[in-house]
Amino acid sequence: RAKEDGRNIYRFFEADMGVAVKDRRELITDLRNAVGNGELELYFQPQYCLRSFSISGFEALVRWNHPTRGLVSPADFIPLAEDTGLINPLGEWVLQEACRIAADWPQHLRVAVNLSPRQLRGHAFGPVLIESLARSGLRAERLELEVTEGVLLTDSDDVLNALHQAKSLGVKVSMDDFGTGYSSLSYLRRFPFNKIKIDQSFVRSMAYSDDSISIVKAIIGLAQDLDMSTTAEGVETKELLDMLVEIGCTEAQGYYLGRPMPVAEAQELIFSVDQAISTAAQ
Ligand code: C2E
Ligand code: MG
Ligand code: MG
Ligand code: MG
Repeated sequence: RAKEDGRNIYRFFEADMGVAVKDRRELITDLRNAVGNGELELYFQPQYCLRSFSISGFEALVRWNHPTRGLVSPADFIPLAEDTGLINPLGEWVLQEACRIAADWPQHLRVAVNLSPRQLRGHAFGPVLIESLARSGLRAERLELEVTEGVLLTDSDDVLNALHQAKSLGVKVSMDDFGTGYSSLSYLRRFPFNKIKIDQSFVRSMAYSDDSISIVKAIIGLAQDLDMSTTAEGVETKELLDMLVEIGCTEAQGYYLGRPMPVAEAQELIFSVDQAISTAAQ
């Protein structure tokens, strides 16, 4: 309970300091109509396999083309959607759209979709997942669900049941932003994740901190022992990419390799002959 109370106080505080209350109300009203008005769009960021140096899949990242405000960042509207429950219709749209789009890609490419804790509570998620796969025809193995540690903060069995159901269908489950929560390690015992995504903050600081390199190495070693793969997030330079290859990270994602892009651009990248990263020559 204490943790939840703390979160609410923090949110209240945050609303007070930053986003004006009126602004927040307006955004919520607009967000209610965003799905129906077709204002949401998925961008796709490539994830590269560091063994083959080729694209292994894309992460779907939602964008909101607001009629007057322009592009609104998910960092600004996902929290609002979570607080109001709008995350359920929004998340359902994201999942269906990501599956529909990825179904047309070559069969070896996967798509990763971010989930908020609230989407996994109650009993609605299983049917939504099954329907998204069935409608799109996407093989379950090609879908990855990304959840943060916050998902396991709740004591609810629903959440674990939903994740187990997803895994039993063949869907992959990744722990996102690993290392940023309060007790990351204990969560690894609570659910058999397929993949750990190492948070950008660790990856970025590898450039100037030997301690950070040690931490990332330890995470990769731990993941290997637990039969999980690793994706480094926020790779912005060749130097970082080379380090990650050297220490045996499985995959990398970041601006150096490719920014999140509209579906048409992702399509072009997939079908361009030269999609391997430049280090491939090594
Ligand atoms: P995330 O899942 O950890 O996604 C990675 C974020 O890092 C994305 O921000 C991406 O654009 C950004 N990023 C990728 N490479 C780099 C890099 O090299 N440098 C830097 N500085 N940033 C990089 P984005 O798209 O703004 O999304 C922010 C967060 O919003 C996501 O973090 C995720 O937690 C959430 N989110 C996005 N789409 C969805 C969604 O459809 N559903 C839910 N529930 N959450 C979403
Ligand atoms: Mg993610
Ligand atoms: Mg992340
Ligand atoms: Mg994040």
